[in-house]
Amino acid sequence: MQQLETLLREASDLAEGIVVPSSAEIEVERVMKICNACRYCEGFCAVFPAMTRRLEFNQADVHYLANLCHNCGACLHACQYAPPHEFAVNIPQAMAKVRGQTYSDFAWPSALGTLYRNNGLTVALALAVGLALFLAMALAKNGTLFHAPLAGDFYAIFPHNLLVSMFGPVFLFVAVALGLGVAKFWRGISAGEPSAVAIAETAQDVLKLKYLDGGHGQGCPNEDDANTLARRRFHHLTFYGFMLCFAATGVATIYHYAFGWEAPYALTSLPVLLGTLGGIGLLIGPTGLLWLNVRRNAQHGDAAQKPMDRGFIALLLLTSATGLALLAGRDTSAMALLLAVHLGAVMALFLTMPYGKFAHGIYRTAALLKWAIEKRMPNPVGVGSE
Ligand code: SF4
Ligand code: SF4
Repeated sequence: MQQLETLLREASDLAEGIVVPSSAEIEVERVMKICNACRYCEGFCAVFPAMTRRLEFNQADVHYLANLCHNCGACLHACQYAPPHEFAVNIPQAMAKVRGQTYSDFAWPSALGTLYRNNGLTVALALAVGLALFLAMALAKNGTLFHAPLAGDFYAIFPHNLLVSMFGPVFLFVAVALGLGVAKFWRGISAGEPSAVAIAETAQDVLKLKYLDGGHGQGCPNEDDANTLARRRFHHLTFYGFMLCFAATGVATIYHYAFGWEAPYALTSLPVLLGTLGGIGLLIGPTGLLWLNVRRNAQHGDAAQKPMDRGFIALLLLTSATGLALLAGRDTSAMALLLAVHLGAVMALFLTMPYGKFAHGIYRTAALLKWAIEKRMPNPVGVGSE
């Protein structure tokens, strides 16, 4: 049924002017109309004040609102029309289904988006293991898989230029794939021109994960209706851990090209300290997110997206665990093997970024920016509050 629906929607893309909404999009439109009459949840997040600026919800509005939703779950537990009420209003689940659809609809190339959406965990692990095996076998063929301790000199195993030629195209591919996807999304939701104030507000909302505070600062529900800040904190550890690892690579690149200081760097050097702190954050954060994901109330989300969510978490964990293992074993004869396993995990993480859970951060940022723009414009329907 879902495949038939996907085929119909793809055919409609070819037939200019005809848009066939998916059942998930129709459901969001239905529940938004009920919420627009009720408006009890206006204080929870940006979705509800954005909703009040509309009387009808076209496909682009539905995509925008779905990505503006942070899936905190608060409005489900507050809703007097939630199941088993006959209105069956379940905003987090309806929004989650459309969000998952947008990740593959806007992905480039879209076939990879669909593949990852349906088999995220399997694809993620198969890619990481396959790439690590490939690199390990290449080293074994050269006779460098096991060696005398090299004091952390990675370039004796994979020369710097070889690493650049391996990872440069991967980074470029990720940037192009994500850029094309978000540009298509941005055009679709007709966001308008962002002002400096709107950009600054969006950056603040993203960096603080403002809408995971439940609207009252006490966090959001997970397995039951008790509020917890755990999801926000584990997200922060994951995000800032990732950024610290990214900063470590950036500083090492500056050292290499600007100052001619080549790796290996001392354990007390800036790149190693940043990478170690980032790796620890990237170990604790995703572990916590996985723990919450396993215990999460099934009503909050789309069960079909669990493999995709867990695939991304698994790759983050693999990347941090193998990175820290490499740091611990960098002066041993197993460094080459540890390096091959770590590089396989990193490459798999980046290759899947445009298609999985990482993309939600990009689309959500775009939706938050649209909200920061439109809230500064006159309300087109002249009612509601924001
Ligand atoms: S989620 Fe329920 S309570 Fe909240 S605005 Fe919608 S209908 Fe009203
Ligand atoms: S689940 Fe949370 S973020 Fe999403 S619409 Fe409801 S209150 Fe807003």
